[in-house]
Amino acid sequence: MDRSSILKEVAMDASNCFKCDLHHSRKNSVPGSGPENAEIMFIGEGPRFHENEIGQPFAGPSGNLLDELLKKINMKRRHIFITNVVKCRPPGNREPSYTELSACSSKLDKQIQAINPKVIVTLGRTSMNKFLPFAKIDEAHGQAVKVRGRLIVPFYHPASALDQPSLRSILEDDFKKLPKLIKQAAKMPEFVEQTIDEGEDKHEQLSLF
Ligand code: URA
Repeated sequence: MDRSSILKEVAMDASNCFKCDLHHSRKNSVPGSGPENAEIMFIGEGPRFHENEIGQPFAGPSGNLLDELLKKINMKRRHIFITNVVKCRPPGNREPSYTELSACSSKLDKQIQAINPKVIVTLGRTSMNKFLPFAKIDEAHGQAVKVRGRLIVPFYHPASALDQPSLRSILEDDFKKLPKLIKQAAKMPEFVEQTIDEGEDKHEQLSLF
């Protein structure tokens, strides 16, 4: 299947998915959006109120901050594929549970395999822990790690900076590192996925920038 068909299939699966309890509060699933050949993917936690209303990622206050942060480094949303670790809204914007994360993980794995981004920016702890299961966000934020041929770049979640204004300048400083990291990643050798299953246990931390 080509990448466009895979992404369409993931979106269709998300809208008809009953694998976990999040379907009860789903108005719209939020599979993600952006170019299918994006070199950069941003992965957040899960849809919130606004995203659930319209089916688009980062459509509310966190999205506004994300846009501001991108603007400061001259990047545009239209160059990035943005998605979440779960595609349906956890009630009350709580963190997705282990069961919900597991039920949804194959959708994200398929998106990553189809898009094959060189750089994955994780927004928040839940997303970071998919790739770096033991990392602590307070220590790991802003430091790129090469995992299975991609750069994983953990950032605080924009919502955290809205809740704790002291995190905002940290997030801004981390965003400033991104253009250089993208250039570094472009020089990395092409990585070919062996299977569609991106099990976390196959991830290997190769080096730290
Ligand atoms: N909106 C999203 O799409 N994801 C988040 O993690 C937060 C807000």
